[in-house]
Amino acid sequence: MFILLSRLITIMPGLYIHIPFCVRKCPYCDFYSEAETEVSIPEFLRALRTEIELRAENWIIPDPAETLFFGGGTPSLLSANQLSIILHYLRDSFAIQEFPEITVEANPGTLSPEKLEGYRQEGVNRLSIGAQSFLNAELDFLGRIHRADEISRSVRAAREAGFGNIGLDLIFGLPDQTLSAWRVSVHQALELEPEHISTYALTWDNETPIGKRIQSGELPAPDESRVSDMYLWTSEILRSAGYAHYEVSNFARPGFRCRHNEGYWTGRPYLGLGPSAHSFLHEKRSWNLRDIREYIHQLRLMKLPVEGEEELSYAQRKMERLALLLRRSDGIPLDELPGNPEKLDPFFSEGLASIRDGRFALTPRGFLLADGIALRLAD
Ligand code: SF4
Repeated sequence: MFILLSRLITIMPGLYIHIPFCVRKCPYCDFYSEAETEVSIPEFLRALRTEIELRAENWIIPDPAETLFFGGGTPSLLSANQLSIILHYLRDSFAIQEFPEITVEANPGTLSPEKLEGYRQEGVNRLSIGAQSFLNAELDFLGRIHRADEISRSVRAAREAGFGNIGLDLIFGLPDQTLSAWRVSVHQALELEPEHISTYALTWDNETPIGKRIQSGELPAPDESRVSDMYLWTSEILRSAGYAHYEVSNFARPGFRCRHNEGYWTGRPYLGLGPSAHSFLHEKRSWNLRDIREYIHQLRLMKLPVEGEEELSYAQRKMERLALLLRRSDGIPLDELPGNPEKLDPFFSEGLASIRDGRFALTPRGFLLADGIALRLAD
């Protein structure tokens, strides 16, 4: 009885599972993952199971989870059997919809036809492939483990395994990258006819190897106006190929938006499991310990591996909602916009926004300035 009363009631449409292993660390990446660690995947799975069970003791979930997202790190390092074990832990502990969206982020250098068939049999129905570039020189610069031709092989193998929802991630805005080099990657991605394409401008933390090289002047920082040109060209070419530019960095064919990420952008709650995973529940944001050894240690003590949490004020929640909704092509309902409607006029005259179906929505040119526009609107 005591346990039951101490539980909190929530709606939880999204489960995120962070797999903190990579074959090699890419020199621009500051996501938490480890390469060549002494911690084995089975050891991590034992700790993850404990976290799942402890979490389930603390929350009653009246609404089944709609989406499961395996991110990382490199989740495709998991064998189909290891993925199946995690799915069993989750299904044993949480209510999950009968047909959830189950995404696995995959690195082309870690996929095989057998693994893809196994994932499909376990119910994975969405594959997000980290292609990044179709030029080997760029893949080398980014420190990726795969070759360009492995991307098309992976997509073909995924189709043969029965995947009908495949996303490709690409990175642009590398130092010295030309628009024509970027065009090669986008056109080759289009030839593979993925349902979803994400394009991210290269970002780096100053503590990463690439960040340090740019800081020291050894590498030029990407030219901002060229990066903007690449962005606008990409939006135009992908929209003309039938993809909706539905979020700043995301494009989808009709019916293939990423439901899990849509949950993040529309402020729905989610539970993150695994080292460094973030959660958003009961208007509180919390985050797990990053270091896998500390994560495992806490769970051996039967303690939740939470490093910190913060409760958002009403003003912070409103600001966050404004910023997130502006990142989507669906925009924000006009009656949720703060301030005088006249202050919207400059955005229309500058071609940065329009009104559609009673909502204020940014154009692709506006997406380039989305964060600044959110601040101007909130002012
Ligand atoms: S594969 Fe992904 S998560 Fe791993 S180091 Fe590279 S960018 Fe980071």
